[in-house]
Amino acid sequence: MGDPHPTPPATAATSPKLRADALTRSFGRGAKALPALGPLDLSVAPGEFTCVVGPSGCGKSTLLRIAAGLLRPSSGELSIRTAASRPAAMIFQDYGIYDWKTVLANVRFGLDIQRVPRKEADARARDWLARMGLSDFAGAYPAALSGGMRQRVAIARALAVEPEILLMDEPFAALDAQLRTILQDELLDLTQTTRTTTLFITHSLEEAIVLGDRVLVMSARPGRIIAERRPPFGRPRTGTVRSAPEFTT
Ligand code: ADP
Ligand code: MG
Repeated sequence: MGDPHPTPPATAATSPKLRADALTRSFGRGAKALPALGPLDLSVAPGEFTCVVGPSGCGKSTLLRIAAGLLRPSSGELSIRTAASRPAAMIFQDYGIYDWKTVLANVRFGLDIQRVPRKEADARARDWLARMGLSDFAGAYPAALSGGMRQRVAIARALAVEPEILLMDEPFAALDAQLRTILQDELLDLTQTTRTTTLFITHSLEEAIVLGDRVLVMSARPGRIIAERRPPFGRPRTGTVRSAPEFTT
């Protein structure tokens, strides 16, 4: 007898964009090595917005840095699958923008790396600055901007390359509540219209529920995934998210 519900074969449209298998990371050497993350299994489907939520120090940034290729795992594997034409982009907790480049040059940075012709890169960068309400600051240096504006520069820079996979590490943590809500809405809109696969890290359960198609909850250090929830309520998939519903477990 065959399996009545055979798993459909994985195709480019369904196989995960991001996948971690028995991923671990420790810091320190030999007997002094302290586990910081895992073992952790994770898979993010194409177009899915996955939030990872967990307490401070549980290894969230470590996970994202491994995904971004900035840090090697101690064991296990993490793989990312993108089409050649669309990269993965990362937005850091602390903005990660270049203080010595103008706002426009910051946003153009990824496009320059992709060898997008100068004129087109300029136009796309300006378009993203306009969407982030930063048109008047194209020629300014980041030092002249507020925290919220710097974060919007970082977001514009990441989105300007039209990434296939977006990795975000608490991008809104430093912002005031009003701006956070505006940017959350904007991000949801964008990731839905462009079907961007997103791995979004936060320590805020409220934010995870507002944004995520799926919420993965991590334990304290060393972080493992201890629960997975799909928000069951009728969250608007386009348009404005106004407040998070109550979360009860
Ligand atoms: P989170 O982002 O969830 O707050 P992190 O991934 O930044 O947590 O850190 C997880 C744990 O690993 C923390 O206890 C942190 O102190 C430790 N850690 C992170 N990076 C390093 C490092 N480069 N060297 C030593 N310990 C580190
Ligand atoms: Mg962190």
